[in-house]
Amino acid sequence: QESVQYDPRVKDELDRNVILTTVEQVKAWARTRSMWPLTFGLACCAIEMMATGGPRYDFDRFGVMFRASPRHADVMIVAGTVTSKMAPVVRTLYDQMPEPKWVIAMGSCATCGGPYKYSYSVVNGVDKVVPVDVYIPGCPPTPPALLDGVDKLRQKIRLEASGKKVTDHE
Ligand code: SF4
Repeated sequence: QESVQYDPRVKDELDRNVILTTVEQVKAWARTRSMWPLTFGLACCAIEMMATGGPRYDFDRFGVMFRASPRHADVMIVAGTVTSKMAPVVRTLYDQMPEPKWVIAMGSCATCGGPYKYSYSVVNGVDKVVPVDVYIPGCPPTPPALLDGVDKLRQKIRLEASGKKVTDHE
């Protein structure tokens, strides 16, 4: 069978003018440019989360805008200590969010129980309650750390749309 020989100028022209992508990648691009976290905080880390939404750090400029209803949110930022009493509420809120949805564990309490790890009333990490996509260390993490966590989540969404499996350690 004869192979087809293209004029090299045709290939150059195609490389310059044709964008090859998939619908999944376009959807991922749109989702990463418009992330809507649910408005709720559990403890002191929430103060830093609120500061990230304020004018100095300006979450909105990245398309990250808080939503008051879980029905309108696609990101849950767990900012604070997850107590055993609060854990079922967190799960209910998560279940009320439509797919696709993602979870950021902000701070050492949400990640592993933090300074209250050995308390009878504290869950040692919100990943015991809901699946977590990104963990942000710190007590509390600063607004730039939260912005970095959101950026990590964006990378994860884009990589998964291109068929790669991503863990928080990558
Ligand atoms: Fe408060 Fe530290 Fe726990 Fe954040 S990690 S909720 S700052 S004790």
